[in-house]
Amino acid sequence: MFKKILIANRGEIALRIQRACREMGIKSVVVYSEADRDAKYVKLADEAVCIGPASSAQSYLNMPAIISTAEVTDAEAIHPGYGFLSENADFAERVERSGFTFIGPTPASIRVMGDKVSAKQAMIKSGVPCVPGSEGALSEDPKEIIKAARAVGYPVIIKASGGGGGRGMRVVHTEAALIHAVQTTRAEAGAAFGNPAVYMEKFLENPRHIEIQVLADEHKNAVWLGERDCSMQRRHQKILEEAPAPGIPRRVIERIGERCAAACKKIGYRGAGTFEFLYENGEFFFIEMNTRVQVEHPVTELVTGIDIVQMQIRIAAGEKLPFTQRNVQMRGHAIECRVNAEHPYKFTPSPGRITMWHPPGGPGVRVDSHAYTNYYVPPNYDSMIGKIIVHGDTRDQALARMRIALSEMVVEGIETNIPLHRELMVDAKFIEGGTSIHYLEGWLGQHKR
Ligand code: ADP
Repeated sequence: MFKKILIANRGEIALRIQRACREMGIKSVVVYSEADRDAKYVKLADEAVCIGPASSAQSYLNMPAIISTAEVTDAEAIHPGYGFLSENADFAERVERSGFTFIGPTPASIRVMGDKVSAKQAMIKSGVPCVPGSEGALSEDPKEIIKAARAVGYPVIIKASGGGGGRGMRVVHTEAALIHAVQTTRAEAGAAFGNPAVYMEKFLENPRHIEIQVLADEHKNAVWLGERDCSMQRRHQKILEEAPAPGIPRRVIERIGERCAAACKKIGYRGAGTFEFLYENGEFFFIEMNTRVQVEHPVTELVTGIDIVQMQIRIAAGEKLPFTQRNVQMRGHAIECRVNAEHPYKFTPSPGRITMWHPPGGPGVRVDSHAYTNYYVPPNYDSMIGKIIVHGDTRDQALARMRIALSEMVVEGIETNIPLHRELMVDAKFIEGGTSIHYLEGWLGQHKR
């Protein structure tokens, strides 16, 4: 096992990885930007090294600074967390070439899955069902594009092959709007992701977002750890997640889960990963794979009892998975609410000094956050400042625990989306379960204030 790991990330996930290391008896080094000097995990770290100014480009995305920090601190492996360099195949390659272990899949896997067109092709080959759409990237020829859209059927969605974070997508309802939409998305994709390739999918009108968590080792073992329902989204961004997905028969989930584990073996996948699907009328359609730990991983940890971050570290160290599929048991229900520093209904960012931070507690409540009273939320990064995760024997109990947790939580000095979560936890449709990816936007439209 590694003696020392460098954590190439910030915020709650840096703290989460640090906790996993500590539990395993591994020393950790955190890198931080000048804006994160006062973060809790920086103070708690065995070693902490400032690698640059607030701007991500000069700090958390600065590959030479991160790798040379690993060198001077004698770290053996680098955990990239999520976001930043976590899905950057060039970074993974440079880490390995410099003699360190990248805690994640091989650069080749990251490359295939990071490009959504090649990811879909790999999935079709592995027998994973995909959203019907263009075969590969769209051609430049308007005639071909029109032909492709007619074959798929309107409405269609134009998506950037290199896209992520809910950006680089455009829905098209009519042929008249098609070519302009393709051109605009292509231009945006080129500027935002350095890759102008776009592809087309059938736009599903009322799907749910259901994803499958997998773990695979270097010894040809792969398991799936159940599913998560992440349908509550705004602008294609998740705001709360739960496991299991309400109302989907177990055998339907099992069928897709087994396919995902089989696909991992076929593509030689290593580490933790997530297969994302849209689910409509009883069918699953693959949209993309995330080759890293996800924000919402704790709901799976709470229902399976498996520590996903520790598993990532053990797999990277070359260990075999310590259990088989038969040992993976789901127990009860878990819900996660993402706490964002933003206006609860206008969604404008609200960075600044937290004058009071009082997290909830009690049975089945977990809070993953680096925030504390007097912590200054820097304006430079993502607005998520923590996550409240609850577990109960049943979904009703999990809902009740989340309501209590949200009612106890106090954050003063900045605005957060906690009031929105409080309302959603008593919303009749959400309580019923099974709302689609468009539900929240509709709800926000009706609850204007
Ligand atoms: P990203 O990598 O940016 O997260 P995804 O491909 O995972 O992009 O899609 C993000 C979200 O966009 C999905 O959860 C869903 O809400 C919506 N979406 C993507 N593809 C489709 C589609 N074919 N039909 C309807 N909605 C879609």
